[in-house]
Amino acid sequence: MNRDELHKSRRIVVKVGSGVISHPSGGLRDEVIHSIAQDIAYCIQDSREVVLISSGAVAEGKAVLGFSRLKNGISIPQQQACAAVGQARLIWSYERCFDEFGQKVGQVLLTRDDLENRRRYLNARNTLFTLLSLNVLPIVNENDTVMVEEIKFGDNDNLSALVTLMVEADLLVVLSTVEGLYTCDPSTGDGEFIQEVDCVDQCLFEQCDMSGISALGRGGMRSKVEAIQKVVDSGIPAVIAKGDQEGILLRILEGEPIGTFFKPREVRLGGKKRWIAYTLQPVGKLVIDQGAAKALVESGKSLLPSGILEVVGTFEMGDAVSCVSEDGTEIARGLTNYTSEEVNRIKGLHSGKIKEVLGYTHSQEVIHRDNLVLMVH
Ligand code: GLU
Repeated sequence: MNRDELHKSRRIVVKVGSGVISHPSGGLRDEVIHSIAQDIAYCIQDSREVVLISSGAVAEGKAVLGFSRLKNGISIPQQQACAAVGQARLIWSYERCFDEFGQKVGQVLLTRDDLENRRRYLNARNTLFTLLSLNVLPIVNENDTVMVEEIKFGDNDNLSALVTLMVEADLLVVLSTVEGLYTCDPSTGDGEFIQEVDCVDQCLFEQCDMSGISALGRGGMRSKVEAIQKVVDSGIPAVIAKGDQEGILLRILEGEPIGTFFKPREVRLGGKKRWIAYTLQPVGKLVIDQGAAKALVESGKSLLPSGILEVVGTFEMGDAVSCVSEDGTEIARGLTNYTSEEVNRIKGLHSGKIKEVLGYTHSQEVIHRDNLVLMVH
C-alpha cells in the first residue's frame, strides 16, 4: 500500500499531542485547534468517519492552576486535579471550534481497564460506533483523574493505537510537534528525514532517533513508533506529521509526501485476535517445545498440553498468556483454558490424560486456535 491510496480511508483515527495544541508557556493554541477542527469537519462532510484522540488536559490544567511555572514536577494527585480542570477547558475549546463548522462532538474518557475487560471493551466500542452513526465526532482521552500509575495506558500514543484497532480504522494519523521520524536528532543537523517506513522492527528502533520526548505530554518518538507497530502489524497504515500546519490532515489524505508514512503489513487480523494480541497484557508464559511451536506456526493448530514444557507466572482461566520457545522468543499469545496451577499438572501430557489428572476437562486444548494469535511473522 502507498500514500496515494490514503484517500480511500473511510474511517480515520487522529491523535493530537499536547505540544501541538498548547503554548509552551501555557494556554491552548486556539488557531491550531481551529485548523484541526476545520480539517476534521471537512472529512466528516466528505462521508468519512473520524475519531479524535486529544491530549492536552494536564498541560492546560497546569497553566490554569499556576503549576506550569514550577521548576519541580507536581504530584500525581495534583496532575489529576490538573486533568480535571484542563479536560473541561479542552473539550470546551473543541466544542466551540467544531460548532463553527456545524459538527457535534462527544467526550469519551477511557481507562485501561475499560479495554482489557472484553465486556467493557465491546461496550466502549459500541458507544464509539453509535456516536459515529449519529454523525458525532468522539473526542477521546484517558480518564486521568481516576488513574493510578500502574494501570495507565502509559500515554495517548498507545491509547490511539488501541482505539484504531478497536474501531477497525483504515488509518491512524499522529499529529505531533515534529515532522516525523529522523535517523538522528534533527537538532544536531545530521538527521536524515525518513519519508516512508516499510516495516517497524528492531532494526528501525536501532537506526532511528527515538530519544525525543514531549515537553508537555507524556509520550515521545519511541512511544509513537511502538504504538504504530501495533497498528501496522494489524494491517492498518499510519502517518506521523507535524500538527500545526494548515490543512495537514487533508494533505495527508491527498497523498502528499508529508510526515513519515508507515506501510501496513499485508495481514489483517480479526477483531478478537487483535484485542488478544495488542490490547491485553499477558499475565504469564508457557514455554513450549519445538514440535508445538511448529504446529502453531506452520499448521495453525491449537496449543495442547503435550507441547508445554514449563509454566511461568500465575494466571486464571481466560487470562492472556504468551507462548515462548525455550530461547525466550515469543511465538504466540492466547487465552488459556486452564489456570497456571492446572497447566502445571497437565503439561507434557496427552490431552486424553487431562481428566485422569484433574478429575475434569474444560477442553482438549490449553489454548484453542480461535483464541491464539501468532507473534512471529
Ligand atoms: N492524557 C494526558 C492529557 O490529556 C496526555 C497523555 C499524553 O501526553 O500522552 O494531558
